[in-house]
Amino acid sequence: MNSFTDLYGHAPEGEWAAPGRVNLIGEHTDYNGGFVLPIALPQTVRAQARRRPDGLLRLWSAQGKGPVRELSVAELAPGAVPGWVAYPAAVVWALREAGYEVGGADLRLDSDVPSGAGLSSSAALECAVAAAYNDLYGLGLSAPDLALIAQRAENAFVGVPCGIMDQMASMCCREGSALYLDSRDLTGRQVPIDLTGAGLALLVIDTRVKHDLADGAYAALRAGCERAAALLGLPALRSLAPSDLPASLPRLPDELRPLVRHVVTENARVETAVAHLDTGDLTALGPVLTAGHASLRDDYRVSCPETDLAVEAAVTAGAHGARMTGGGFGGSVIALVDAPRAPHVATAVTTAFRHAAFTPPHTLTATPAAGARRLS
Ligand code: ADP
Ligand code: MG
Repeated sequence: MNSFTDLYGHAPEGEWAAPGRVNLIGEHTDYNGGFVLPIALPQTVRAQARRRPDGLLRLWSAQGKGPVRELSVAELAPGAVPGWVAYPAAVVWALREAGYEVGGADLRLDSDVPSGAGLSSSAALECAVAAAYNDLYGLGLSAPDLALIAQRAENAFVGVPCGIMDQMASMCCREGSALYLDSRDLTGRQVPIDLTGAGLALLVIDTRVKHDLADGAYAALRAGCERAAALLGLPALRSLAPSDLPASLPRLPDELRPLVRHVVTENARVETAVAHLDTGDLTALGPVLTAGHASLRDDYRVSCPETDLAVEAAVTAGAHGARMTGGGFGGSVIALVDAPRAPHVATAVTTAFRHAAFTPPHTLTATPAAGARRLS
């Protein structure tokens, strides 16, 4: 039932996988030209695919609930495709808009990336489809090029004004490493992170509060950062160092100052975190995470009672540090813990949620996994 052959009457040409991600530190910095430090999760979206000669795009997802959906590739237009189908369709549209004459395909999708949990199932879905199309249609695009196509798809077709981090993480991360990425020019390097060797575990606590980045809040924050950069005569806030803040903040209207302070201090936190990883001092990452959360909560104001409580309960239960990860307004919290204490910390957060009458959180343990790849 619902195998590729059941759905489409023939076998797929191949299968591709692309992971979700958690960002260790560097939140809301990518669209300011700054630094990020994501790892890919072992959880992936898988796309089985076969080209079609008739220009039809047929789509089915194990998580999509419903029959096979059928679209005409030539008629794809931003805003015209509702629901989850928009994400894979967007990638095909973005490839064609970039000048690649790709045709139709039968696609069967399946995933174990929690959706809407701030773990970037949307980028995983886009990147799995992008990787499949790249191979099937012989496009020869590099992983960063495919990430840019996937971002363009989400921005222009789905209508979510996300930065480049999620797609770059899903395409370019490597097993055992975090991706230290400079969003200004997409240069970066893989930074080894051996959590197990250091006796540590990274808990991911899905607060089950569904964020909605497509709503106005994210776009408003992004616009605020762009306005602040323009007022300061800068191409992007990335150009500011923490030592520039005392002179720069007074030149801005009150409401923009905390936004700028977050972005500038957050960029510095990424550099501090990378320095700790480079020296192998992984526990020193903890306070950097917690400081990042305070900045998201107090300056950028994208946390919520559930993420704040998860951070507080995790740190109280002995985590080295914790922070909200992802765009905010809910989603997931990461907590760096001594591996033997992971169950205790997870239970402490669940208990705190019960006392606060919040929906019980879901917890998983993240290990740095590989980026998008062909499976068969
Ligand atoms: P996040 O990226 O944090 O998981 P988003 O709201 O950006 O949250 O993306 C979630 C959306 O992506 C879902 O509502 C759905 O439309 C789509 N999606 C993600 N994974 C799948 C999947 N396996 N099948 C179908 N749609 C999916
Ligand atoms: Mg998303």
